[in-house]
Amino acid sequence: MLKCSKCGKTLADKDALVHKDPEGNQHIICHDCFKEAMGVDYQTFAFRKENAKQTFFAVLFCLAATIYAFMEKGPLYGGLGIILTILVYIFASKAK
Ligand SMILES: [Zn+2]
Repeated sequence: MLKCSKCGKTLADKDALVHKDPEGNQHIICHDCFKEAMGVDYQTFAFRKENAKQTFFAVLFCLAATIYAFMEKGPLYGGLGIILTILVYIFASKAK
């Protein structure tokens, strides 16, 4: 069994969260203390993190396509690719 390092509550493995404090030390904490520390519950936090990851890959993909278009089709298509990348980034970060 694990224990929350903040409130001392006993935790099941699946309920234990690893939290890094500003000094970089890792603590095992419960969902309640996580919410208190981050100002957001764990589900929302995990969702945002996943969302940020997807945005990152979408933008990366667009950038790669942009570079490809620039080399294969010339600056006009490269420019369109950059605009597309920016649009994807804006839409992805607004869709939260
Ligand atoms: Zn706790």
